[in-house]
Amino acid sequence: MDQKQNIEQFKGQPRLPKFAIPKRYDLYLKLDLSACTFSGLVHINLSIVETTKFIVLNACELVVHQVFFTTSLNHRITPCDVVLNGNDEILMLGFEQVLGTGEGVLSIEFSGALNEQLKGLYKCTYVDKGVRKNMAVTQFEALQARLCFPCWDEPALKATFKITLDLPSELIALSNMPINDEKINGNVKTVYFEESPKMSTYLVAIAVGLFDHIEETTADGIKVGVYCPVGKSDEGKFALEVAVKSLDIFTRYFSMPYPLPKLDMVAVPEFFGGGMENYGLIIYRENEMLYTDSRSTAARKQRLTIVVAHEVAHQWFGNLVTMEWWTHLWLNEGFATWISYMATDIMFPEWKIWTQFLQEINGGLRLDAQEKSHPIEMEIQHGHEVDEAFDAIGYKKGSAVIRMLQEYIGDETFQKSLSFYIRRYAWSNARTEDLWSVLSEVTGIQVNSMMDSWTKQKGYPVISVKSKDHILEFEQSQFLLSGFHGDGQWIVPITLCFGSYDRIKSFLLESKSENLDASELFPTSDEKNEDEYGEASWIKVNIGQSGFYRVKYGDELDARLRKAIKKGFLSVTDKYGILDDRYALCVACEQSLSSLLLLMDVYRKESDYIILSKVIDVCYNVLEVLRDAIPELTNALKENFINILLCSAKKLGWESTPGESHLTGLMRGEVFMALAAFDHAKTHEQAMHRFQSFLDDRSTEFLSPDTKRAAYIAVMRNANTSRDGFESLLKVYRDADAVQEKEHVLRTMASTPSPDILVEVLNFFISKEVRDQDIVYGLPGISLEGHEIAWWWMKENWNFIINKHNGGLLTHFIRDIISPFCSNEKADEVEEFFESRVTSSFAMNLKQSIEQVRIKARLVESIKQERQPLQDLLKQLVCKG
Ligand SMILES: [Zn+2]
Repeated sequence: MDQKQNIEQFKGQPRLPKFAIPKRYDLYLKLDLSACTFSGLVHINLSIVETTKFIVLNACELVVHQVFFTTSLNHRITPCDVVLNGNDEILMLGFEQVLGTGEGVLSIEFSGALNEQLKGLYKCTYVDKGVRKNMAVTQFEALQARLCFPCWDEPALKATFKITLDLPSELIALSNMPINDEKINGNVKTVYFEESPKMSTYLVAIAVGLFDHIEETTADGIKVGVYCPVGKSDEGKFALEVAVKSLDIFTRYFSMPYPLPKLDMVAVPEFFGGGMENYGLIIYRENEMLYTDSRSTAARKQRLTIVVAHEVAHQWFGNLVTMEWWTHLWLNEGFATWISYMATDIMFPEWKIWTQFLQEINGGLRLDAQEKSHPIEMEIQHGHEVDEAFDAIGYKKGSAVIRMLQEYIGDETFQKSLSFYIRRYAWSNARTEDLWSVLSEVTGIQVNSMMDSWTKQKGYPVISVKSKDHILEFEQSQFLLSGFHGDGQWIVPITLCFGSYDRIKSFLLESKSENLDASELFPTSDEKNEDEYGEASWIKVNIGQSGFYRVKYGDELDARLRKAIKKGFLSVTDKYGILDDRYALCVACEQSLSSLLLLMDVYRKESDYIILSKVIDVCYNVLEVLRDAIPELTNALKENFINILLCSAKKLGWESTPGESHLTGLMRGEVFMALAAFDHAKTHEQAMHRFQSFLDDRSTEFLSPDTKRAAYIAVMRNANTSRDGFESLLKVYRDADAVQEKEHVLRTMASTPSPDILVEVLNFFISKEVRDQDIVYGLPGISLEGHEIAWWWMKENWNFIINKHNGGLLTHFIRDIISPFCSNEKADEVEEFFESRVTSSFAMNLKQSIEQVRIKARLVESIKQERQPLQDLLKQLVCKG
């Protein structure tokens, strides 16, 4: 075989060959921010572990100028073949002579361009004193360090990094480690960073630009710096406070100090996600890190806290102990998500954040009830598939399954096990099974087979419960929204209570079905008279919704439970769970829409934020399908929903009162937004009035940050008849200096029912005025009336969209524009359009969106059969007022 043929063997492989293992990178980069280019030189200390004539590493979109290998005896060897393969993103080096085992240094001189795709080393722009300037920022997760320098770009190949940068002398340079030395030579500054401890390539980071900064030192002596856009350092104070507290919480939780000498956080104007946990240098999108009391909503404050805690948690879970391969990505994301709630709960107990964790669980339950879902541990055959692994399964189902395990094992033992796991795998990598082994070792409970059933197979069960003479019959089957039942089986930790939270029972359901003799738990007739006995005999399965499954009750149990909710016997989390399960069963056509509406009516007087937020969520979804199923009932349904919400709206009012709770602010925002979206006349009237006051005086207290979006929705709902409101809102966007102000406008602009204005709005979303990343705010806001026109618009502009937006952002177009449809005809049309256009970066999302459409098409047909009872029921409910 000749050399050329030999080189072929490295193509199309999911992972790099392991002839050579990197130990240390000495990386020098020279940045030219006006030409938007960079050049670099990297020396990589290698261990050659197998004699070889080849070295293969990752590189992508780089120009390689010179390569040589220096042996431990200081012989310099130049490769005879230097082949860059764009498809596999690898650089293949072929040598004439065999490289023997031992140490050596590979040196590569290269250059590249700062891209505008928010990946690798990219350019973003900001305005300084009226002048538009460039900034250079990195985003390397998952496979993008290779866009900046040639490297072994796999999480398990950890090495140390010594980074040196050349940059314009007036700018600030940040990286993972503190600055060791700086030299200025004319207009150029050379910054030498300290060498890092061992870490994965995807965690290497730099940010170069102009910033204002504030800092604090933790009790353990860690310097925490927050870098904000010039003039906005005040807006970084809250994030700094959360980061310092989180560091302290995690240091104690893991019994392990923060591993680096400093932690910096920087807000950049353009960023793909919310935040990235690069070791020692967390990078955020501006509006995820900046906060002001006067401009930001309660929801933003909460999201910021959770995001900062999440990224700080990664410094241990992810950075110190890293997943061995992307299949185990959920270990990073599931844990960081779960533990960010734990930390938030410690910082702000009054937010009752664990009740809001139900929304995370729900996101997982929703996606995982589709046939096109995937297991938590997702096989990654090719690098391009990694992007799609960052979805609700890894983050939300991952975190939910961890919470279920924690509840099963107990808080204290769980914490002990985690801290043991972190210490055992520190500076190294782990797989899912390594974590289960540690847990089993510490607790003495074999968790492997139970957890395998949750992480290695997709889906989850619905548990049917029926009662027969004090015998409870439990049966599990895989829950799918399509109404079919899959053949999955799980080891399910079941918890249940009988008539009170003092009578609790738990067991593992390991087979398809099991009976439980519950006679001792039912109150005897001696204890209670007949009537009380009836009241006390309700049963709630999955206490506190800590298990990742749904519950379907037999008719009798169901009626008792409804009574118990009315009487106020159930906890907030359980009431949420009952409604959420009922909604899912209704979508799967296992229970009727009428029964769902009846249950919702029981929640009419609810004043708890999380329940009301669930009620609103169900309202939006039901409205979407009913419009297609029985259009003439749409107004009655809207009226019914408005009635359910009005009670809370009256209590809340448009203006906040001094000293009111965080949850009240959250609730006000959601309730008024829903009323505006359902075209409640009085809400529109108030909203338009307050919007006018806001236009006259942008700092008016008449329109608080929490109600701004409700007002904007009302403005856009009325943009049907006149363009004035739309023009005013555009002006608000253009005048806004704060990104959060722009976000409010983007999120609400597409809510117009007018097709012409909607097309203008969508064109605006992809214009130069809106940053590419911000498309994620605009698209979910498209009105129910606007979906058809949005689909037409996307088809018309597809070539432009696919060229402008990279893989991750494309999935938002797919999800937000396709999944609202409710008919098989539409699903067919979408499939046909994408037949020749689908790419691997959004293939899974496309399939999932089409599946959602088909699920709803089936639901629409089932609702049509319910026409008469629904009509009667709605009449009755609306009359109640
Ligand atoms: Zn994360």
